[in-house]
Amino acid sequence: MANDSVRVRFAPSPTGFLHIGGGRTALFNWLYARSKGGKFILRIEDTDALRSKQEFVDEILDSLKWLKFDWDEIYYQSQRFPVYRQQAEKLLNSGKAYIEKTEGKGEAIIYKVNPQEVTVNDLIRGEIKFDTSVIKDQVLIKSDGTPTYNFACVVDDALMNITDVIRGDDHISNTPKQVLIYNALDFRVPNFAHLPLIMGTEGGRLSKRTGATAISDYRKMGYLPEALVNYLLLLSWSPGEDKEVIDISEAIRLFKITDVNKTSATFDMKKLDWMNNQYLKNEPTEKLAQQLVGILAEKGLINKEKYDKEYLANIVKLFQGRLSKVNDFADWADFFFLEEIIPDPAARAKHLNRDLSKEFKLFSERLDKLEKFDIATIEEAFRKLVAELGIEAKTLIHPVRVALTGKTIGPGLFEVIYYLGKDRAKKRLLKWAKQEGV
Ligand code: GLU
Repeated sequence: MANDSVRVRFAPSPTGFLHIGGGRTALFNWLYARSKGGKFILRIEDTDALRSKQEFVDEILDSLKWLKFDWDEIYYQSQRFPVYRQQAEKLLNSGKAYIEKTEGKGEAIIYKVNPQEVTVNDLIRGEIKFDTSVIKDQVLIKSDGTPTYNFACVVDDALMNITDVIRGDDHISNTPKQVLIYNALDFRVPNFAHLPLIMGTEGGRLSKRTGATAISDYRKMGYLPEALVNYLLLLSWSPGEDKEVIDISEAIRLFKITDVNKTSATFDMKKLDWMNNQYLKNEPTEKLAQQLVGILAEKGLINKEKYDKEYLANIVKLFQGRLSKVNDFADWADFFFLEEIIPDPAARAKHLNRDLSKEFKLFSERLDKLEKFDIATIEEAFRKLVAELGIEAKTLIHPVRVALTGKTIGPGLFEVIYYLGKDRAKKRLLKWAKQEGV
């Protein structure tokens, strides 16, 4: 393998789920590799046997696959302990490390820090100078035989021929310690690129409350992977010209690591919703409908085995433009799939708070008599009725909407009536016409 071909790695510790920050680090590594025709290596840093869990490994791999960050090679640090020991012994033999014995425990191998000025030319932040005289001697192999993060990381990055280390800036303070170890082992120091911090909308580091949820949670909430990736991309990079929605292949073409922002990024769920809406709008309706079948069936709104495909696609089309999460559809459109509905109490209190028997009965009769049942004819009949009653359209539109859909917002009322069908529309109107003291 040629040493100068780009090789980057994403190195998650499987002690938790893959979060937004990890997703962004993975993205920038993957993007860099793909933009340079290099290799993207996945390294599972599972040296901590107590805290590392297989379920987290599985979840991280699943999330990366869902985001479509394909990797070229994968390694597990837990399978490489002899490699780390061998390198630590090299340092022992050259007198750069020593053994420390602890009563009742095994022997630890410690690197004796040789203070020097370390300068790192960070691809994003520029030159960073570190004074290593404040760094204490570094444990390489702990007394239980496991390597420390800083040591295993350097050994692997060197032996795996990693050319560029792209990671979160919470690792900046580790960088000088790692450079010392590279130098001690006569390894070539890779390039470093530290990605800026991600903050929540209320300031401060991203927290669970402000969006540091697992990538798999965004998947469950109904975000499209393409939209999430596009959003993660904008967190620290911009294609320029105020362009925000950008296809991944175009991003691969335009991406330059040196253009990544130095300043911290803000994770804003509202912006993510906007982005997801941009993608949902452009999804082929049939594909989106297909994606919804499972959720709708789970909620008992359709029968997975036999449902009307064309009807579902028509309803999806009604909502597609304003959908910001796939999963919202089931809540917004449930009334189209139910025989009977129970209006939302607040909507009922607002719009079905007076006796509308007369108006509802009349409208239901008009619907019944329609020769042609299409959107324009339904609207015409409605407009004629309110004119005859001498009332403003909106005084009837809102109550009819709540009676038919149970909600105050939704697609155009006449489209709603059309897709509900004459029978269901009449039935729902008459049900309210009969209610006492509404
Ligand atoms: N396992 C480390 C982490 O998850 C990797 C840091 C690095 O990329 O060097 O933070």
